[in-house]
Amino acid sequence: MDRVRPAKAGSERDRASLFADALLRLETAGVHADIDPEALERLKHPRRIVQVSIPVRMDDGYLRIFTGYRVLHDDTRGPAKGGIRFHPDVSVDEVKALALWMTFKCSVVGLPFGGGKGGVIVDPKSLSRLELERLSRGYIREIAPFIGPERDVPAPDVYTNSMIMGWMMDEYSHLNGERSPAVITGKPVSNGGSLGRDDATGRGAYLCIKELEQRRELRPEDTRVAIQGFGNAGQHVARLLHRDGYRIVAISDSQGGVMDPAGLDIPALASAKNAGLSAKSVYCLCSVHQCDLPRGQAISNAELLALDVDILIPAALENQITGDNVESVRAPVIVEVANGPTTSEADAVLDARGVLVVPDILANAGGVTVSYFEWLQSKSGDYWTLEKVHARLREIMCTEFAAVHERMEALGVSMRTAAYVHALDRLGAAISSQGTHNYFGNEQA
Ligand code: GLU
Repeated sequence: MDRVRPAKAGSERDRASLFADALLRLETAGVHADIDPEALERLKHPRRIVQVSIPVRMDDGYLRIFTGYRVLHDDTRGPAKGGIRFHPDVSVDEVKALALWMTFKCSVVGLPFGGGKGGVIVDPKSLSRLELERLSRGYIREIAPFIGPERDVPAPDVYTNSMIMGWMMDEYSHLNGERSPAVITGKPVSNGGSLGRDDATGRGAYLCIKELEQRRELRPEDTRVAIQGFGNAGQHVARLLHRDGYRIVAISDSQGGVMDPAGLDIPALASAKNAGLSAKSVYCLCSVHQCDLPRGQAISNAELLALDVDILIPAALENQITGDNVESVRAPVIVEVANGPTTSEADAVLDARGVLVVPDILANAGGVTVSYFEWLQSKSGDYWTLEKVHARLREIMCTEFAAVHERMEALGVSMRTAAYVHALDRLGAAISSQGTHNYFGNEQA
């Protein structure tokens, strides 16, 4: 197993810079990849960082100015692609890291996209629906010159959803003077979205677990799973695994979690949680730990990560498994449905212990894969059946999972490093074809 370069200043650096931590993964993989050093260097620098101020007239009549970002990390393999996050902790450093991960995610599954990401610093749960709409439209007005179907194509991310994507597409279309459905993905199906986009991230992770099931001869009924995060991706991966007989023993959300060693009733939990979604509100304000369950006990997020389970699925935010708590993690398999839940410092420890980590850039790539299908459909006007979406998603996820797994075994590295090497091969070839020192070497001689 390879070792990720150890973190410099202990666990402090886990919180210091997500982007610096993301670059460590590149350096580790760069050693094994067939990539020109100039192409690797290019990937360490985001191409464009845009910061915007978004004035929003609030319901009380006062004006509030929000700060937003859109980062285009790389677009060598195609238009940039990546979601928009509404969260109080958004920072330019976080958006840069998320954009870089998108470049690698799109490359690992072979999509003709680069990587981008956007974010607005806001607690969206504190806004009314009308304020949320004004903020969403205002953000698009500010970043409109930098996005477009062949430039940079946003999508949903943490605390943004299909309704918000619909508003954003509408705003862009007005500015552009023509209907432009391919500018954004994750739209409502009734307004140019794709069937199967809503559960695509969870389904992609589920397909990775099905691949592991074969390779590790897992028996679903004996496989205990804990899932941190019960938003879109967490709920769908829980639903699909539960349907196949997996024992989901713990679930949590931002406020806390529930545990039952005999296995939780996932459909009941999902409907209890979603019952908190009143017709007027956009976000669910209740928590799974408040659900009235016949069995089960309340646990914290920290306790969930340390449970004795067979598969741990972090499906919330970044920096959850760090140098501070990695020693307490007991699961032999981690499937990263969130972006960046494990720091490189924690990676090194997990690697040394032989824990298999299916990395975020592969495990959660189902979402952007179906976004690609949606982009194709929006451009062509030819809409696919759900069967076609599922079949093509399965084909891509299973093929690329197998390629990464093979790479891991051939190189004797972690699955994360193998995924980065696999992505770097495609990126390196694309960047070199546009010119590097070696490429032009003969002419200079
Ligand atoms: N936000 C999702 C991600 O991190 C989806 C991005 C997309 O569909 O473009 O992968």
